[in-house]
Amino acid sequence: MDTIVAAATPSGRSAIAVVRLSGPTALDIARLLVHDDSFSPRPNQVILKDLKTDDGAVMDQALVTFFKAPHSFTGEDMVEISCHGSPVVVRRLLDRIQQLDGRLAGPGEFTLRACRNGKMNLSQAEAIRDLIDARTAAAAQLATRQLKGELSNALSECKQYLIDVIVKLESALEFVEDDLPELQRMAVIDELAAVRSTVDQLAKSYESGHLVRDGLNVAFVGRPNVGKSSLFNKLLTRDRAIVTELPGTTRDSLTETIALNGIPVTLTDTAGIREAGDRIEAIGVERTHRAMADADLLVVVLDGSTEIQAEDRRVLERARAARHVVAVNKSDLVLRADPEEMLDGSKVVHVSAVTGGGLTDLSAAILEPFGSVDAESVGLLVTDSRHCDLLLRATAALEESASLMRDGASEELVLVGLHNALRYLGEITGETTTDEILGRIFSTFCIGK
Ligand code: GDP
Repeated sequence: MDTIVAAATPSGRSAIAVVRLSGPTALDIARLLVHDDSFSPRPNQVILKDLKTDDGAVMDQALVTFFKAPHSFTGEDMVEISCHGSPVVVRRLLDRIQQLDGRLAGPGEFTLRACRNGKMNLSQAEAIRDLIDARTAAAAQLATRQLKGELSNALSECKQYLIDVIVKLESALEFVEDDLPELQRMAVIDELAAVRSTVDQLAKSYESGHLVRDGLNVAFVGRPNVGKSSLFNKLLTRDRAIVTELPGTTRDSLTETIALNGIPVTLTDTAGIREAGDRIEAIGVERTHRAMADADLLVVVLDGSTEIQAEDRRVLERARAARHVVAVNKSDLVLRADPEEMLDGSKVVHVSAVTGGGLTDLSAAILEPFGSVDAESVGLLVTDSRHCDLLLRATAALEESASLMRDGASEELVLVGLHNALRYLGEITGETTTDEILGRIFSTFCIGK
């Protein structure tokens, strides 16, 4: 096993940056870095040292901490260097450590080593990634619970039940000449139904868990001047403080993320949809259509203070094919529009971007089609599609075995499904995960984690 190195803090200027090393030569590299052969820090003790180049010039003064295996994040010898948060210092430090035979870590490689050394299981490692990526307090909370082992514990109970059943059937195969007595068969069927129901419930929780982790895309559409931008801004000023801004979410149209009931909702303010007059406008309209196609829900904005126009009808016609809510805006003015006849079953909310009236109703209407999840108070939620897929496979395998059992099939046949189910559940926590899949999972981590 070689020694890996990476910056654990993001690039850019900051008060402090952390560079960490993990592997058998971590301390040797640290000694060379501080030009002190006798440097033997007590584990977990923070020591101030000069970091030096090959020819002895001081690069920086830094706090150096040694963590001795197995009592470290990765379970290996580790050294953490807290230097000044200058990109130049960090770059020089990383270069120097590579000269001293440290290798730049790949994405998630520290956490992968922690998994391999039994410091945590795979679902806990994934929870660390999700915690770092969380966009709302609720998503962070769910990730923390997974990190604490809630999912692993629930699965471990299911696996234990399954193993009990497997042992029962295997010993019937080994020692009993006749088939399992009827009473025992019935008991096994009941036990399988209980495990299946728990696994199935976990799989079903993905619908809500996915919503809390990945959130929704909502696009505001409508003809110009109905108040789309005003509504967009009003929702942002009410809810923006809860979420952090995410780089990478900016698309062609104006896009921001807010939290509604703990669910990250990405709002897109589109250019109006109308017959394009010139080329630039045509690009705007094209982008609007793209945003509409990407959205999980459309908010069709109408201006309640004017008559409904042909363009409003066109927008609504287009939106009707998708999940949508109609916001009749400018409710602070006299209502002139009479959109009821053309709404035809659409959910309608009266709002005012000026007074903020009706915005709570609009928020509720946006979330309504996705089921109500109170992310702050729900039980255990599965948030990862990989986990959900494996849970569904386990459910199907258990169902198959139970049905064979009911039909009086041989224990051997029943056992095939049970072993498969056990393997699927083990893949979630990493006990039975292949290296190829591990590689794919850890490639979604950031470097230095
Ligand atoms: P967009 O083109 O659809 O994005 O519309 P804007 O948000 O730019 O709004 C167009 C005009 O309507 C602006 O002059 C806004 O001040 C006004 N407006 C927007 N919402 C309201 C509202 O709820 N009440 C009133 N009285 N005026 C509004």
